[in-house]
Amino acid sequence: MRTLSQFIAGREHAPRSGEHLDDVAPATGEVVARVPRGGEADVAAAVEAARAALDGAWGKTSTEERARLLDAIADRIEARKDDLAALESLDTGKPLRLAATIDIPRAVANFRFFAGAIRHDRTDCHLTDGPPGPALNYTLRRPLGVVGLISPWNLPLYLLSWKVAPALGMGNAVVAKPSELTPLTASALAEITAEVGLPPGAFNLVHGLGPEAGQALVEHPGVAAISFTGGTATGARVAATAAPVFKKLSLELGGKNPTLVFADADLEQAVEGAVRAGFTNQGQVCLCGSRLLVERSVHDRFLEAFVARVKALRLGDPKDPATDLGALISLAHRDKVEGYLRLAREEGGRVLCGGERPALPAPLDRGAFLAPAVVAGLPATCRTATEEIFGPVVTVHPFDTEAEALAMANGVRYGLSASVWTRDLSRAHRVSAALDTGMVWVNTWLLRDLRTPFGGVKDSGVGREGGAYSLEFFSEARNVCVKL
Ligand code: NAD
Repeated sequence: MRTLSQFIAGREHAPRSGEHLDDVAPATGEVVARVPRGGEADVAAAVEAARAALDGAWGKTSTEERARLLDAIADRIEARKDDLAALESLDTGKPLRLAATIDIPRAVANFRFFAGAIRHDRTDCHLTDGPPGPALNYTLRRPLGVVGLISPWNLPLYLLSWKVAPALGMGNAVVAKPSELTPLTASALAEITAEVGLPPGAFNLVHGLGPEAGQALVEHPGVAAISFTGGTATGARVAATAAPVFKKLSLELGGKNPTLVFADADLEQAVEGAVRAGFTNQGQVCLCGSRLLVERSVHDRFLEAFVARVKALRLGDPKDPATDLGALISLAHRDKVEGYLRLAREEGGRVLCGGERPALPAPLDRGAFLAPAVVAGLPATCRTATEEIFGPVVTVHPFDTEAEALAMANGVRYGLSASVWTRDLSRAHRVSAALDTGMVWVNTWLLRDLRTPFGGVKDSGVGREGGAYSLEFFSEARNVCVKL
C-alpha cells in the first residue's frame, strides 16, 4: 500500500502530525493508500515555501516560460493518461472508461488551454482625451501572491487542474488542498510538476481533512485568495472565514439543476440528454440535471422512454469497459442518498426504478453501489425535489405552461445550470434569458467551451471561472495613468 506525502518546496514531506488517514476505494472498500493528515503546521510550511518561490526564481519567470511549463505538465499528464485514469477510477469508484475519456483528457486540456490563454492574453488601454487629459491609462495584471486551491472528490484532477493552471499561469504560487477522499491524482500532479522542472515552491500540496488542513489554509494570513469548489455549507464556512480579512474568493458550490423538456423537443435526443445529465458520474456532478420538468402532453411518453433507458444503464465493475455507472464515493454517501429515497417515499413519491443495492460479486459486494433511481409524483417544492442529493436520483415533474416550468426551475435556492430541450428557437432564447442560473444549455448538456464563464448564482456560488474570468480572478488589476 502506498503512503502519500505532502509536497512542499518541491520535495515530499511526512505530515507534521505524524498521522495518516485511510484512502478507501469506494468500489471495493479496500484501503488503497495512507493520506497525510495535514494541519496548521503543514499549511504554514507550504505557504512559506510558496512565498519564497515568489520572491525567488518563480517570481521572475516570463509569461512564455510559464506557458511552456503548463504545456509540459499537459504533455506529462497525457503521457501518463492510462495510469492516471486508473488512479482516478480507483479513488472515486467511477468507471475507468469515464476517467479515461473525460477526467484525464480534460486535465490535459485545462493545462494546454491556459498555456494558450496567457500567451494570447491582452490588456486594457484607455485613452483619456477630454479635460483634465490627455492621458494614457493601461492595466497591469499582477499575480495575487500565494493562492489556496480547495477541490472536491467528484472530478478530482479535472477540477484541481482547472484552478492550478490559471493560478500558475498568472504567476501565483499555489497551495492546493484536494479532497481527503480522492488524494491520488493530486499527488501524481505534484510528481509531474517536479518532473517538468517547475521551480520548487510554485506548486505545493497539503493533504488532510477539510476542517483541519482546509480551514488552516483559508485562515492563513499569507494566503491572498481562495478558489473553492465544494458543497454550499462548506462554501459558507469558507466565506465566513475569508471575508473579514478581505481575501479574494471564488466559490463554486452545489446545484439542483433542472432539465426542461418541452413538447416540441426532439424527444429521442431529449431522453438521451436527460439520462446523461441525470446520471453521469453516478449523478455526482455539480451540473447534473436532477430535476426533470416535462411538458404534460408528452410527459407519460417521455417518462416511459426515460425509465427504460435508465434501467438499461449497466452498473458494476468500474474496470469493465461496458460499465456505465460505478460506485458512489463512499458508504456514508450512499447512506445519505438512500435517506433521500426514504424521504421521497414519505413525501408521496413513487420510485419508478432503481434505489436498491445491486447484488455484485466479491469484492464489489463491499462497494458503495446504488441502482439509478427515478422518482415521480412529488411536489416540485418538497425537500427531495429542492435539496442537493448529489447521487443517482432524478425526480420528474409535469408542467402545463412555460411560465409554470420557469417557476419550478427557478424555485430552488440553487442556480448553477439548466438544460432546455425545444425546437422552438424563440422559446429557447426566451427561457434561457429567464432562467436564474449561471449556465444554460439548449438541446445539450455539459458541452463546455473553456473560454466561457463557469459558475452559479444564489446558493450555487460567487464569481466565475473559465478563460479570461479565471485569468482575472487569479490576478490583481493595476491601472497606470500617464499624463501626456
Ligand atoms: P465538501 O464541501 O465537503 O468538500 C470540498 C473540499 O473542501 C474538500 O477538499 C474538503 O476537504 C474541503 N473542506 C471541508 N471543510 C472545509 C473547511 N472548513 N475549510 C476549508 N476547506 C474545507 O464537498 P465535497 O463533498 O467534496 O463535494 C461535493 C460538493 O461539491 C457538491 O455540493 C457539489 O455540487 C459541489 N461541486 C461544485 C462544483 C461547481 O463547480 N460548482 C463542482 C464540483 C462539485
